[in-house]
Amino acid sequence: MREDYLKSESDGMDSSEKEFERALRPLSFDDFAGQDKIVNNLKVFVQAAKLRSEPLDHVLLHGPPGLGKTTLSNIIANELGSGITVTSGPVLDKPGELAGLLTNLEENDVLFIDEIHRLNPVVEEYLYSAMEDYKIDIMLDSGPNARTVQIGLNPFTLIGATTRSGLLTSPLRARFGINSRLEYYDAKLLTSIVGRSSDILQTPIDEEAAYEIARRSRGTPRIANNLLRRTRDFAQIKGDGAITLNISKMALEALDVDDHGLDDMDNRILTTIIEKFKGGPVGLGTIATACGEEAETIEEVYEPFLIMEGYIKRTARGRQATDLAYRHLGILPPQQNGQLF
Ligand code: ADP
Repeated sequence: MREDYLKSESDGMDSSEKEFERALRPLSFDDFAGQDKIVNNLKVFVQAAKLRSEPLDHVLLHGPPGLGKTTLSNIIANELGSGITVTSGPVLDKPGELAGLLTNLEENDVLFIDEIHRLNPVVEEYLYSAMEDYKIDIMLDSGPNARTVQIGLNPFTLIGATTRSGLLTSPLRARFGINSRLEYYDAKLLTSIVGRSSDILQTPIDEEAAYEIARRSRGTPRIANNLLRRTRDFAQIKGDGAITLNISKMALEALDVDDHGLDDMDNRILTTIIEKFKGGPVGLGTIATACGEEAETIEEVYEPFLIMEGYIKRTARGRQATDLAYRHLGILPPQQNGQLF
């Protein structure tokens, strides 16, 4: 279960988790906390597009999972007063499926493609002319009878979301007029998100309990909401239903979220680099095998936070643990002789 709250929607959440996310998902720019610069720009672009009765320029949203890419895409469609069709890169594996989605879009609708870096290259090629000229060439028949017909599309906005913008091809990236990187949230913003979510869930929560959950949520609203959900269970069973500081601490400990917000896998990664590979540098694939986790998940989900917080650094020869990582695990860094204190 521990990894569950880190996963993105497409990673197979069960229906109650989806329901939970849906209930807490902000529906307007005003309900969306943080990411001020991105939101303020988007508000202007959305208003301008509406005034001109034109589709909004194509938008690329990138950043680690759980920071609000899907939420923002839905908000953009809401604020445009447009429909939204949701799909994802790995699901859309045939050009015919893309053509089906595109031809069903109404004027100025939004097509949201999650994990757009995982699009099949053939499908991606078809997307180019759709994005640029609102046209798509469809191949009919094959062999000597093969011919293409061009189909005109309603003007639309593509919103692509990705955790790995570096994997996007340059022709695709170049076709997005708006390109925004979502950042991790600070504890204050996350406290307000936890407060809002507890209101929606009708669960009373003390301010310091909300802060405790917030500061241990790896800067990520999805994790904050999921920790809140689990803490609410503890409050109901071990308390009187209200979330106090003590209840939140008890729940976080039971969920293996340590005092700095690192979870079991974060700590396993640090321990592996330090104890098995003398602090590194060590390659990502080797760390992944030693930790029993996919390299891609480590790179997309765990590593960005560990790097941002200064526990590991990326070098040309691999990942290296910093002094902070040693201290976090209660081990003296090697230049001080590598003894436990
Ligand atoms: P992503 O698409 O980046 O993985 P989501 O948009 O699915 O992330 O966000 C995950 C959950 O976190 C949403 O259900 C929403 O409730 C919450 N969330 C994300 N960003 C915000 C925000 N800025 N304010 C309030 N809640 C947020």
